[in-house]
Amino acid sequence: MQVSISDYARVWQLREDFLVFGAPVIGESDIAEVVDTLRSGWIGFGPKCQRLEADFAAYLGRPTEHAVAVSSCTAALHLSLVASDVKPGDEVITTPLTFAATVNAIMMTGAIPVFVDIDPATQNIDAAAIAAAVTVRTRAVIPVHMAGRLCDIAAIRAVAARYDLSVIEDAAHAVEAAEGGVRVGATSPFACFSFYATKNMTTGDGGMLLVRDGVAAERVRRLRFHGMSRDAWARYGATGFRHYEIVEPGFKYSLTDMQAALGLHQLRRLDSNLAIRESLWAAYDALLRPLNGIRTPQRPPDSARHARHLYTVEIVPEELGLSRDEVLNGLTERRVGTGVHFKPVHLHPYYRDRYGFREGMFPHAEHVGQTTLSLPLSGGLTLGDVRNVVGALNDIASSVPRKSISLDEPRHAVLSIGGAR
Ligand SMILES: *Cc1c(COP(=O)(O)O)cnc(C)c1O
Repeated sequence: MQVSISDYARVWQLREDFLVFGAPVIGESDIAEVVDTLRSGWIGFGPKCQRLEADFAAYLGRPTEHAVAVSSCTAALHLSLVASDVKPGDEVITTPLTFAATVNAIMMTGAIPVFVDIDPATQNIDAAAIAAAVTVRTRAVIPVHMAGRLCDIAAIRAVAARYDLSVIEDAAHAVEAAEGGVRVGATSPFACFSFYATKNMTTGDGGMLLVRDGVAAERVRRLRFHGMSRDAWARYGATGFRHYEIVEPGFKYSLTDMQAALGLHQLRRLDSNLAIRESLWAAYDALLRPLNGIRTPQRPPDSARHARHLYTVEIVPEELGLSRDEVLNGLTERRVGTGVHFKPVHLHPYYRDRYGFREGMFPHAEHVGQTTLSLPLSGGLTLGDVRNVVGALNDIASSVPRKSISLDEPRHAVLSIGGAR
């Protein structure tokens, strides 16, 4: 059955509850595990953090001792840079299309962030352009797997090998991702994961750092907890009092058992939640594709397992008659939460002022920052939620005043409801 946008909008109804963007999926097993921790008398860093490290490493098929539970992905990024011996005045290459934390972590070491624009097809750092940004001061590169789609890590690894750079993967969006069966982070010295509330698995706040080299992993474990000699966290445990020694000044980046308790069961549901997001993604694609002025995400290659963290659409104002922000506000009015991923980091005031970044320097990232928005996507959503979001978009599109519509250019999309297209 073919219906016009206005027919579809008539079927759509304003939802009663606000659809929160990135709402976590918390199960009864999560709650029971946290309560168990609270009753156990050990709530700080301890056995549940160690279990989470072992389970996380097993999930990614990595040796247990190389997964280090930390307080955030930001902490993991900072520790990776310190362990890569990045020093003040060094340069670190990354993408401008990321959350500010990626770049702030570079600043925390005193190093200088150097941006390389994205490949517009993937929204990931343009691997072919990295070499041109390398100088004698470049020490590391931080690729970000945007929205859950893996960067071209093989190409990045080749550049890194040529210029002796550390590769630190920002895998905050991509814990489930793989390419040709190779899991995220498998070939890099460091990979950083986030357990922030909106991420694919959450511990409220928290993260994990995967370290390939055993010596570096040992150092990162120390730096995570004040620079104390190993296992000093257990000095009040049943094994008896242990004196600790500071071997280098560290940070306070440890996770707590209260947080790890939440993560233990989240981790077990990663793949089933991914399967739900895959089906929601396919529904968005099918319902949105016929709509003029809204571009759906690029399809990942068949060899890739996309982590489906963000479903990001591009608004084409010339076709839709509305700007990205008008659509975003329209969705909020219709009780649908959205996200913007991201305002490119170089356009934030601090980075503009400090480094003289200007609009026009990284045009592909800027285009994404100006024209895209992320629709709700989570294992907690239903196909009904997706239909409601698309219905809200149709309602917004059909509310554009008629006088702004060019008559010789048909701009009303035609949607087929219930039929395969
Ligand atoms: C969320 C996020 C981070 C930071 O994660 P935290 O755990 O909140 O520190 C870093 N990079 C990207 C791309 C993110 O989306």
